[in-house]
Amino acid sequence: MPAYDLCGLGWTDELAASLEANHIPGRVAAQHRGAYVLYTEGGEIRARVSGRLAHEAAAPAQLPAVGDWVGFRDGVIHAVLPRRSVFQRTSAGRETLRQVLAANVDLVFIVASLAGELNVRRVERFLTVAWESGAAPVVVLTKLDLCGDPTELVLEVESVALGTEVIPVSAVTGEGFDRLEQQLLPARTVALLGYSGVGKSTIVNRLAGRELLRTREVGEGDEGRHTTSHRELVVLPSGALVIDTPGMRELQLWDGDEGMDASFTDVEELAVDCRFADCSHTREPGCAVLRAVDEGVLPLDRLRSYRKLERELRAMEIRKNVRLRQEETRKWRVRSRAGRERAKWKRSGR
Ligand code: GDP
Ligand code: ZN
Repeated sequence: MPAYDLCGLGWTDELAASLEANHIPGRVAAQHRGAYVLYTEGGEIRARVSGRLAHEAAAPAQLPAVGDWVGFRDGVIHAVLPRRSVFQRTSAGRETLRQVLAANVDLVFIVASLAGELNVRRVERFLTVAWESGAAPVVVLTKLDLCGDPTELVLEVESVALGTEVIPVSAVTGEGFDRLEQQLLPARTVALLGYSGVGKSTIVNRLAGRELLRTREVGEGDEGRHTTSHRELVVLPSGALVIDTPGMRELQLWDGDEGMDASFTDVEELAVDCRFADCSHTREPGCAVLRAVDEGVLPLDRLRSYRKLERELRAMEIRKNVRLRQEETRKWRVRSRAGRERAKWKRSGR
């Protein structure tokens, strides 16, 4: 059981100042139903939250999550120390169901693939998520070896990622990894965001110098499944730390309703003034969004991206939810039947 150097885990003076005198500091490395694994100066320990902390937490978001610094004593966590950054998922905007996916992330790698179609709008969305969390983003474009000349794509991404570093990499040739390594300063905590298949595990394994993520899956087969046998906060050889939780992996576009609100606040704010609450901003009278476009307040391109993302979200919802799809089909049939009947009725000259 190795002891940890607190500074190496990201401990700061501010954190020290917020720790109660009789508490010992630890950083949450894994969590499973109220059971936590903490990295501490005395090594790894298991802990539970105190009844009082569990009781007083007004929302699950106030309970410890992976990456959190906590104050504990005798295997009992009494306090969650102030977070530098937080990634969370809200269920349909309900504050009480807000769930923290990772805390105290310093740097987010937003990962997208150069092979196939690169969706710049998605990168833009992930950038919004990152900035809102309080962590700083870096865009990593993978599979450089499968892409001819990335210059144009890189420029395109740079145009939406103002001031953010964009790093093309290839896990096959190793190109670009030196630039990633430069980001991995000791005690910095890194997390990765991006769609499944873009190469996140490949990056983490390469930076870790071992099959970190495969190792994890092996431990998942046994009885309690997520027996806290795997760690979701891992110290890399460079001294940086990487957080990889299932929740972060699933933080994709279908979490997107709130995400859309977030990245399209301009459109959403205008929409408040639309005459109809369910205005689709396409042709309705009294549409404040269209008026803003007319007046040159809102660029037409913004409205186009908004509609496109809305369609994507909807398409994804429909794909995900077969019942909804059947419902759509039914409505469509009813509508077209009604249409046919109306036509017949008209033809019959009544
Ligand atoms: P994740 O779902 O984002 O974790 O993606 P993985 O890391 O599992 O990678 C998905 C697939 O892409 C795997 O078959 C990888 O071997 C492959 N892959 C990842 N990075 C690269 C790369 O830079 N070049 C090429 N050619 N393939 C890659
Ligand atoms: Zn409208």
